[in-house]
Amino acid sequence: MNRESLAKLNIGLITHVYCDKFKSTKTSVYLEITVRKRKVMRGKKRIIIHIDMDHFFTAVEERQHPEFKGKPVVVGADPKEGKGRGVVSTCNYKARKFGIRSGIPISRAWKLCPEAIYQPVDYELYRKVSDRIMRILRKYAEKFERWGIDEAFLDITSRLNDYNEAEALARQIKKEIFKKEELMCSIGVGPNKLIAKIASDFQKPDGLTIVEEKGVQRFLAPLPVRRLLWVGRKTEQKLKKMGIKTIGDLASYDPAVLTETFGVMGIQLHLMAHGIDRSEVEERREVKSISRDLTFEEDTADSEFILNTLDKLSNEVHKDVADQKLCFKTVTVKVRYENFETHTHGKTLPFTTNRLRDIQKTVRELMQDYLRSERKIRLVGVRVSKFVSGKKQKTLI
Ligand SMILES: [Mg+2]
Repeated sequence: MNRESLAKLNIGLITHVYCDKFKSTKTSVYLEITVRKRKVMRGKKRIIIHIDMDHFFTAVEERQHPEFKGKPVVVGADPKEGKGRGVVSTCNYKARKFGIRSGIPISRAWKLCPEAIYQPVDYELYRKVSDRIMRILRKYAEKFERWGIDEAFLDITSRLNDYNEAEALARQIKKEIFKKEELMCSIGVGPNKLIAKIASDFQKPDGLTIVEEKGVQRFLAPLPVRRLLWVGRKTEQKLKKMGIKTIGDLASYDPAVLTETFGVMGIQLHLMAHGIDRSEVEERREVKSISRDLTFEEDTADSEFILNTLDKLSNEVHKDVADQKLCFKTVTVKVRYENFETHTHGKTLPFTTNRLRDIQKTVRELMQDYLRSERKIRLVGVRVSKFVSGKKQKTLI
């Protein structure tokens, strides 16, 4: 890898890395990196705020149902007294005390805490609340970036002078969200998105953590590597085998070995461990795809039942498409058999559309091959993608 090919890699984090020396040998690539932080705005350092709503779905449910207060609440699939087959979407802090976590099977959650309140996922409601919160947040910054349904980044550099002002602003944001929506959030303030995001997660719920540039290394060092963006379970395991548990361990590890082991990701890990992130806060481009999946209560080969389910999923996908005023070109189905073998099959239409019947018709067409085999199916899904904004498109409804 030479300097030029590295420069071509489109990763925000390595934009400002200067590689002083690259030596390539047969078995490995050694590199010495001198990392220099370059001020993006001359004379002024960035201040970024990250806002993360506290256990958002369950908090909205608790607000809608005051009788849930103080009880463990789990939002997700129907537990069916321990026989349910989906997963936990979110749960509140009371439920977490029983060991329940997002993503675990709902049947396991039931075993851990059968007395919890189980609520189905009400996306429509959460999205409406989220939209209102985002409107509140957007006005506080010139640069705003929505991050999923319940998180956002604000770049407040141009509006404020220092971290004291940033702290006051963070408190004001918390106050306004609580006053208008009766919901709590945790806020992180830092010199970049990476630090702000880790900081918002530092003291949950109702947290406010401020990490100034000079305190970055001290803040990061004791934290587990998993706190870094892009460090998933697999990377965590690999790092653990190398004796790296904390971000501090990672920061002092030889970047040449990291690069040998992880490729370009190694450089990224090195930079993140030093708290360096040059990525900008930017308004997200439109969504890439909209999808819905469903796990059947029992594996099934009943084609009529499967197609009816897909019609319902298509309907839900279409609602989202209509809400966001989008038109799409590609429709994809997902099929998971009882042995977890998973297939996706898509079709790009010769025209752009926003009609429900185009989703349903294409889905049924794409499903034919899968239904013919009469194998038992565990899960089906519908996805639409290749969007153009509905405003630019003649309405087809
Ligand atoms: Mg959250």
